[in-house]
Amino acid sequence: MSEKPLAAAAAAASAPRFEKLSAVKGMNDILPPESARWEWLEDKVRQLMARHAYRNIRTPIVEPTPLFVRGLGEVTDIVEKEMYSFEDKLNGEALTLRPENTAGVVRAVAEHSMLYDGGKRLYYMGPMFRHERPQRGRYRQFHQIGAEALGFAGAEVDAELILLAHALWQELGLKDVRLELNSLGQPDERRAHRAALIAYLEQHQDVLDEDAKRRLYSNPLRILDTKNPAMREVVEAAPRLIDFLGEASLAHFNSVRSILDACGVAYSLNPRLVRGMDYYNLTVFEFITESLGSQGTICGGGRYDYLIEQIGGKAAPAVGWALGVERVLELLREQAPTQAPSPDVYAIVPDASALPQVLSTLTQLRALGVSVQMHAGGAESWGSMKSQFKKADASGARHALIFGSDELARGEVTVKSLRDGAGGAQQAQPLANLAQWAITLQSQH
Ligand code: ATP
Ligand code: MG
Repeated sequence: MSEKPLAAAAAAASAPRFEKLSAVKGMNDILPPESARWEWLEDKVRQLMARHAYRNIRTPIVEPTPLFVRGLGEVTDIVEKEMYSFEDKLNGEALTLRPENTAGVVRAVAEHSMLYDGGKRLYYMGPMFRHERPQRGRYRQFHQIGAEALGFAGAEVDAELILLAHALWQELGLKDVRLELNSLGQPDERRAHRAALIAYLEQHQDVLDEDAKRRLYSNPLRILDTKNPAMREVVEAAPRLIDFLGEASLAHFNSVRSILDACGVAYSLNPRLVRGMDYYNLTVFEFITESLGSQGTICGGGRYDYLIEQIGGKAAPAVGWALGVERVLELLREQAPTQAPSPDVYAIVPDASALPQVLSTLTQLRALGVSVQMHAGGAESWGSMKSQFKKADASGARHALIFGSDELARGEVTVKSLRDGAGGAQQAQPLANLAQWAITLQSQH
């Protein structure tokens, strides 16, 4: 037999049988060690929410499409072009992967009459879906953390939510985040402003882009939210909603501002800040950084006193915000590089036959709170001591526990420090004392 057919057969045998699949465009896998940052952020958020008495809520990722159409508004970027909507194959119901979670929370609050005994403070974390053009800081599956306070009309709760977000930036060590604030007033004030705005924009039809022309009569306020630089000048000179606010709306706005002032939280007023959904009234705000290019808004929110009624619930005031997890983490990565997590201990097992006893010891250590990575491999590739030590070093563990058969027979294990170079201190520990050793180890954290 010549060599050629053999080589061809070998190649055919090693070729994959199925086409390789990859993730959907704009939807990302979050892998270790990066996922450790996510967990770290989530832990910080849980602690902070608990300190502010916000409770966790978890709602479905799929909701009836009308929830978003009615809740967010028909003439919004999200509803017009960004929703993943589909028909339930079995009953034809129109469904949508949630593009945001305020509407879902409000639906749940109304559905379960959660406000019957007073206001509720809630928070959530999870994936959202929008069919956008993927780029840095803009994905099709992305993640939000959000806080919502429902059933409270007072400006102090608007301020509480802004302070909560501000506290989170401090807690995370984020720098260069600024706060922009505006008030959208009440529906009647918006109507008066809307008439003035349409009249003004009609005089500048030539500069309006397609989106703006289409929205001129259906949702002119949204035009102020444009990202088109060609329209900036016209938009900046447009009639300002803030000038149409009555006494009550201004008083509400000033109350929010005086609390922020008293707490030393700096902000700037942006009369063109309108936000992407129609459900907002009174206070709206965004936290922005210049460090992420054009995807610089890391968190946005405001009051939405009419949303609950809009989706069929009993009217109740509400206010909330959502932050983009990917953008916050991107900013953190730039400002504060952190180390990947490592175990406390790497367990070196020279002879695999000792594994049952090793595992029983490791189980006790883990129960005491020690983080342990065990050496692992197949019967034919168990690895020499040298290669096990290499892996122990690579794991970043502070200590190696060496479960040599002779030591085990004496009821001992060798502890070697991996942090003081090649000549790391090495010491025999009776297995019976391991719990005490674990406690000492924990106290050195
Ligand atoms: P943008 O103007 O950047 O499109 P938005 O106004 O649509 O943002 P919101 O609906 O207010 O955003 O969502 C709150 C936060 O969620 C945003 O400030 C941002 O940090 C994040 N976010 C929104 N859309 C995306 C996305 N496609 N990918 C990643 N993060 C996003
Ligand atoms: Mg958007």
